[in-house]
Amino acid sequence: MILAYLLDGLRCSGCGVLNALWHDPVRGLIECRECGQTALTFPEIGKEDS
Ligand SMILES: [Zn+2]
Repeated sequence: MILAYLLDGLRCSGCGVLNALWHDPVRGLIECRECGQTALTFPEIGKEDS
């Protein structure tokens, strides 16, 4: 059972680390493993990616 999965190719808007964001579908949020920043749903992360 997958509780959270890596958001590949996305960069944290807080610390700027790439591939450190995990999506938790249960809680409906995204958490950064590096700085611990959390965000509800999808804000503006990974915006430079087309
Ligand atoms: Zn971060």
